[in-house]
Amino acid sequence: MSTLRFHAIKESLTRKPVRIEENERRSSIFGSNVFNEDTMRQFLTKEAFSSVMDAVQNGTKIDRVVADHISTGMKEWAISKGATHYTHWFQPLTGATAEKHDAFFEPIGNGRAIEKFGGGQLVQQEPDASSFPNGGIRNTFEARGYTAWDPTSPAFIYGTTLCIPTVFVSYTGEALDYKTPLLRALQAVDHAAVDVCKYFDKNVKKVNASLGWEQEYFLIDSSLVASRPDLVLTGRTLLGHSPAKGQQLDDHYFGTIPNRAMQYMRDLETECMLLGIPVKTRHNEVAPNQFELAPVYDEANLAVDHNSLLMDVMDKVAERHNFKVLFHEKPFAGVNGSGKHNNWSLSTDTGVNLLGPGKTPMSNLQFLTFFINTIKAVNDNEELLRAAIASASNDHRLGANEAPPAIISVFIGEQLTNVLNELEHVTNGKLSPEEKTDLKLNVVGKIPEILLDNTDRNRTSPFAFTGNKFEFRAVGSKANCANAMTVLNTIMANQLIEFKAEVDALIKKKDLKKDEAVFNILREYIKKSKNILFEGNGYGEAWEKEAKKRGLSNNKTTPEALKAKISDKTIKMFEQLGVMNKVEAEARYEIEMEEYVLRIQIEGRVLGDIARNHVVPTAVRYQNILIENVKGLKEIYGNDFKKYAQEQMQLIEDISKHIELINSNVTKMTNERKKANGIDDIEKKANAYCFKVKSIFDDIRYSCDKLELLVDDELWPLTKYRELLFTK
Ligand code: ADP
Ligand code: MG
Repeated sequence: MSTLRFHAIKESLTRKPVRIEENERRSSIFGSNVFNEDTMRQFLTKEAFSSVMDAVQNGTKIDRVVADHISTGMKEWAISKGATHYTHWFQPLTGATAEKHDAFFEPIGNGRAIEKFGGGQLVQQEPDASSFPNGGIRNTFEARGYTAWDPTSPAFIYGTTLCIPTVFVSYTGEALDYKTPLLRALQAVDHAAVDVCKYFDKNVKKVNASLGWEQEYFLIDSSLVASRPDLVLTGRTLLGHSPAKGQQLDDHYFGTIPNRAMQYMRDLETECMLLGIPVKTRHNEVAPNQFELAPVYDEANLAVDHNSLLMDVMDKVAERHNFKVLFHEKPFAGVNGSGKHNNWSLSTDTGVNLLGPGKTPMSNLQFLTFFINTIKAVNDNEELLRAAIASASNDHRLGANEAPPAIISVFIGEQLTNVLNELEHVTNGKLSPEEKTDLKLNVVGKIPEILLDNTDRNRTSPFAFTGNKFEFRAVGSKANCANAMTVLNTIMANQLIEFKAEVDALIKKKDLKKDEAVFNILREYIKKSKNILFEGNGYGEAWEKEAKKRGLSNNKTTPEALKAKISDKTIKMFEQLGVMNKVEAEARYEIEMEEYVLRIQIEGRVLGDIARNHVVPTAVRYQNILIENVKGLKEIYGNDFKKYAQEQMQLIEDISKHIELINSNVTKMTNERKKANGIDDIEKKANAYCFKVKSIFDDIRYSCDKLELLVDDELWPLTKYRELLFTK
């Protein structure tokens, strides 16, 4: 009997839900571990407080003397909440968050000690950066980078540690993390959008990008996960036959949340409340043991931090409930994968959502301006958007066996499609008074505040307009949203700058009124962006063919997709907007390509090991039992034995066939891996891993999965899909 598997199953079956008591109202504990506005008022001097607020709202620098005041207040607050340590919390390009804890405690001689935390320690730190990826920006022997306080994301206490959100940059100033380019992109879109807003409302001084992510994940019993080396080492199952019952019945999606999972969620949500993460929605997802969690949207930088923090917290809380969270985009073949929808919009400091239709024709013209500019931005940069969400794990969703596809398109719904069709026929140049009135009354003025057809959403679209926001659905569940948000806000900033220049030129050269010029430019944008608009089913060959005709990219693998990150066009745009320079863009490309190679390399090794050292020996063992059986039958029945041993003999042959295939394919894969490892050029290497190494995975898996069906269940060493997915 295969001990580990059955031990794990037995353990998972004895689990009881860990009861969670919620004694306090969520609203009263919300943000109580965050150094937020209320707390700052309490613990900071007036000067220190307004200095932080100024930094948050206007990006002004904080004076060193003031920083000392702030750090003192922060420390007092943290100690009053039981914190003993502080850390600069940041998001290096490894995907996980990083922290190094230092104690407030400091000896001052004579056997005495105090708690100390100065402005210098708040503002800047130097972590040992040599172990973080840098894409060749720093040589390891001069591995100096520093973290710097980001006051726009409030400090928080997790456990007994005061965590200070920071950016991570090299001493030469290049970004080494996710946050730095994001902050630059947010600033770029702020400036560009404010300039455009001025056409409609002179009072607008700041535009914030908002992000509301929806985190999908699997929750699997920790013993069961521990019994699967592939899940432990790669985050996904590299083999496993699909269960007799999958998600066909939709009974999980519409069913109640299982009790153990429910207790986990309540526990998690309490932690989120303390940390000021405004989680609001929880529900089952399509696949068994798959769930979703979503907060109320927030300013994009804060929302990105919250999502990174959330993923850490989810892991930690899961331990208490004997669960393991799977963030991988496709942990189980043939079962729905996980994504992280990024709901995105822009809003002004005057309280207007620029992607929400308004009450008056003028506010609707503003809405249409931002709406159509977004479509144009996506149209012109679809390949870069695809690159922003590329990863080895997300490749299993995009362009593989699941919607959304690797082709980026925009869904806007029937009503807005009609509006665009009308606007496309606006007269070139000056508009007659009748036409203007007609436009205002019958086109722009007729956009209802609530867009009805958005309840009937197209779930296969990677980028859909959903009433008052765009929903970027192709983002991976495991990804840091910063990648997608940096690109989306950058291309929007770029587009808005172009729009402003074109409108101004028309006003000046052709002597058009402002709204005439706006209508004229929008008309041209609609014409130019037709290829990206797609209302149909985005999943399948028909759309692939159609998309090809339209000239849209369809990069199914990460090595192909990532190229767009270092195209001349991209680098020029990033540089012009100050989001990333060439060195930074190229370093990131390098890091992501290397990460891709490493992931596939690890998967290859693990698969080879499981196939050869777990599956094949098990198959041989079972085959021996069959051989014994056949021998016995021969002993009893003599020459007649075949009559009774036919099935067993067929099985013996089938097993041999698959063992042979596994061995030859693993050998082939290992050889290809060795060849790939010898390649220096990262692009060629990634391609070799993608097209020569990874391509053999399916063949190995096929034989292993066949053997799973042939071999006695009692002998099978690997916990099966039905056990992983249906143990609650
Ligand atoms: P679903 O896509 O599952 O139907 P909802 O449409 O209710 O879910 O919202 C999903 C997410 O979108 C939530 O996190 C929500 O806060 C966020 N959201 C709602 N309005 C906006 C907005 N204007 N900008 C950004 N995100 C938003
Ligand atoms: Mg959604």
